[in-house]
Amino acid sequence: MTIRIHSTASRGKVDFEPLEPGRVLFYNCGPTVYDHFHIGNARNFVVMDVIRRHLRHRGFDVRFVQNITDIDDKIINRAREEGKTPQEIAQTYTEYYFNRSGLLGVEPADVHPRATEHIPQIIGLVERLIERDLAYSTPSGDVYFRVREFKPYGELSGRNIDDLREGARVDPSEEKEDPLDFALWKASKPGEPQWDSPWGPGRPGWHIECTAMIHTHLGETIDIHAGGSDLIFPHHENERAQSMGATGQEYVRHWIHNGFLNIEGEKMSKSLGNFRTIEDVLAEFSPLTVRFFLLSAHYRNPLDFSRENLAAAATALRRLTDCLTETANTLRLLGVEDGSPEAEWIAKYDEAMDDDFNSQRAIGVIFELVADVNERRAKRDPDDSDRASLANGLATLRTLCDLLGLDPALDQRGDSSGVNPELAAFAEEIGATPSEQTEEAILQSLIERRAAARKERDFATADAVRGRLGEMGYILQDTAHGTTWKRG
Ligand code: AMP
Ligand code: ZN
Repeated sequence: MTIRIHSTASRGKVDFEPLEPGRVLFYNCGPTVYDHFHIGNARNFVVMDVIRRHLRHRGFDVRFVQNITDIDDKIINRAREEGKTPQEIAQTYTEYYFNRSGLLGVEPADVHPRATEHIPQIIGLVERLIERDLAYSTPSGDVYFRVREFKPYGELSGRNIDDLREGARVDPSEEKEDPLDFALWKASKPGEPQWDSPWGPGRPGWHIECTAMIHTHLGETIDIHAGGSDLIFPHHENERAQSMGATGQEYVRHWIHNGFLNIEGEKMSKSLGNFRTIEDVLAEFSPLTVRFFLLSAHYRNPLDFSRENLAAAATALRRLTDCLTETANTLRLLGVEDGSPEAEWIAKYDEAMDDDFNSQRAIGVIFELVADVNERRAKRDPDDSDRASLANGLATLRTLCDLLGLDPALDQRGDSSGVNPELAAFAEEIGATPSEQTEEAILQSLIERRAAARKERDFATADAVRGRLGEMGYILQDTAHGTTWKRG
């Protein structure tokens, strides 16, 4: 088994070879917690979650770290606007991040380090760079990285240092030796959060935070460093310079960057104002639909956000969830035990995902299996082997969905519980309330209620069940094995 991975530094696919066989040290640049995140940010969270899941599924012991940037100009500005402290703002949006990314099925990382909890490590790293003449402090108490002293600068992003220097903006208030030098430590202005340091009170620059947290939680050389492609330059180029400058060692073996979620041909971003927060999108589409949509393209390709594209994702997803529901219902009627996943389908899926985590192709495999399972289910007079094959098909489908985190339960959580309130009310009214309040359990209980009514020749009640369910968009089908339901 070899996983091929597109590394930004090598500009092509390479064999994935972690430093220590069987172990993956994986870092994803996490959110800056100053506002609601948008669906472009969500693309990064979801695709990296799936890459982590796939590596784990392929037997690697994955240590996944995603930081929280909880000190930054944007947080300070927001706090000022709202008359709050930067800590309060960071706290609010950190909770928001965990809550909303959880709705989308993003698993928490093994560690979520926060920048403000790593000030001693950050200061230590800056000191190491100063000792190596790769950094200098200024009379005002700022510290800068001396870019021209780090020869491989520009290699990751493919930029030429002379071109960069020509385009660099010079701010006369900064005491830099060279316009390309970037801040490692910033002297604090009055009223800003500050920590003591050998250069006076101040706060860390953004790039150094990630490097210090990586060194602390993963080590000086890691296997995968991820983020959106907007982070390649300057953030990751600078991180690389800081780390390699301080340690003299390789920093990252494989850099991976997700493509943009675009809207009307432009990158969705806070600064352009063309963003849709995850709230906006979840008001119209279910969490599972959003996750499915974000995985429907290869992670490096652009993905176009539009209502039409999300609606198309919802329609496609229905074919999958209907197949899951109808197959489970049929198996229940047939009285068949759980099946086991089929190796050849899992292998097809793995082939797609081993090729640079191609979730688009992996979803294609899932839909081939949906068609196959639908055919298996349509078989008349199933014998034992047909029944077993149907049960195995369902088990395989569930396994593949699980590997992508496409869990139907995502649509049955929290306020978007997924249970139609009208359905729950009707079940109660007619005395068919199961102990478990899921859509599936309520429908089963209504089906049983209807069967009992028919037995008692109470056709009015039996017809009322079918009629009301029909109005709510559920169709009851009486088959040779009993009654199943599907969405109309
Ligand atoms: P931020 O909170 O701005 O640091 O962003 C969190 C993550 O979202 C980073 O990895 C960004 O690169 C990524 N990101 C931001 N905008 C987009 C977009 N439009 N499409 C895909 N990823 C994005
Ligand atoms: Zn970072």
